[in-house]
Amino acid sequence: YHAKQQDDGTCPFDESMTWALQRRQQMTERLSAAIAGQRLELHFQPQVDLCTGELVGAEALCRWHDAVWGWVSPGEFIPLAEERGLIRPLGDWVLQAASRQMAAWRREGMALPGRLSLNVSAQQFADPQLAEHIATLTRDVPASAIGLELTESDFMRDPEQAVGITHALRQAGYALAIDDFGTGYSSLSYLRRFSADALKIDISFVRDMLESRHDRAIIQTIIAMARTLGMKTVAEGVESPEQAAALAGMGCEQAQGYHYGRPLPAADFAAAWARAMRRQAPG
Ligand code: C2E
Ligand code: MG
Ligand code: MG
Ligand code: MG
Repeated sequence: YHAKQQDDGTCPFDESMTWALQRRQQMTERLSAAIAGQRLELHFQPQVDLCTGELVGAEALCRWHDAVWGWVSPGEFIPLAEERGLIRPLGDWVLQAASRQMAAWRREGMALPGRLSLNVSAQQFADPQLAEHIATLTRDVPASAIGLELTESDFMRDPEQAVGITHALRQAGYALAIDDFGTGYSSLSYLRRFSADALKIDISFVRDMLESRHDRAIIQTIIAMARTLGMKTVAEGVESPEQAAALAGMGCEQAQGYHYGRPLPAADFAAAWARAMRRQAPG
């Protein structure tokens, strides 16, 4: 909305503002009902080895289809859930749904190679019992099948606390990735202490990397830093074979992006994955 500033610096409570607030209130109520009614969905995006192109894992991404609004972007409903106290129930649903899905794939004889990565928010991460909580909600699968992603800026909200929780999670067998890396102002000393397994190079550096020498230099620096700290790098938002080749040449290990596959519902993801396995099988 466009709030006009008055001479005294205050904003009039105009009509467009009321409308925006109403939409957020409505959205809060509908999202809350969708969570309670288990009407959210998970989509799955492949993570691949940049050298071999093989599937090395997947990321689960939350989706919400509202009866009236249609698909609502996670970029809109995740921050809203964080603000309105809905991120814990949403996060719990994601953990349970992901674990149910992995168990179903295992029963069908399809064990996902590597791990399924789940996004967690700062409020979930602040729970000192997080490792135990995750274990309870994902009873059907071992910790070695699960990775957790937290954005760099969320890590830095309370870095001392994050240090403690990352250690507990690692000890329990979960892998940890620092998401949207390069946008969150973390310090080298904290990066060293977080004991994360991977840095995910933010999509904003990958997008223009072929044209921008500056973005390539940043990517190169992130890869070198990860190496020094004993972490691997995962590039986000890889959309072309040229980007993939350039990243592989720079020593980046893994990638995700439309070039390899869009996030898909479980059945479509499993079908694409089965096709890829048949292509890779010898003979
Ligand atoms: P993220 O974890 O950094 O996820 C990557 C985003 O990039 C996803 O957006 C994905 O659909 C998109 N993407 C993947 N490949 C490409 C590509 O080649 N090009 C472009 N342009 N985009 C690509 P999405 O699904 O809209 O999710 C946005 C953000 O919402 C996520 O960013 C994550 O921070 C948050 N989110 C999604 N699901 C969850 C969840 O279950 N829990 C929490 N806490 N956050 C979630
Ligand atoms: Mg992520
Ligand atoms: Mg990201
Ligand atoms: Mg993001």
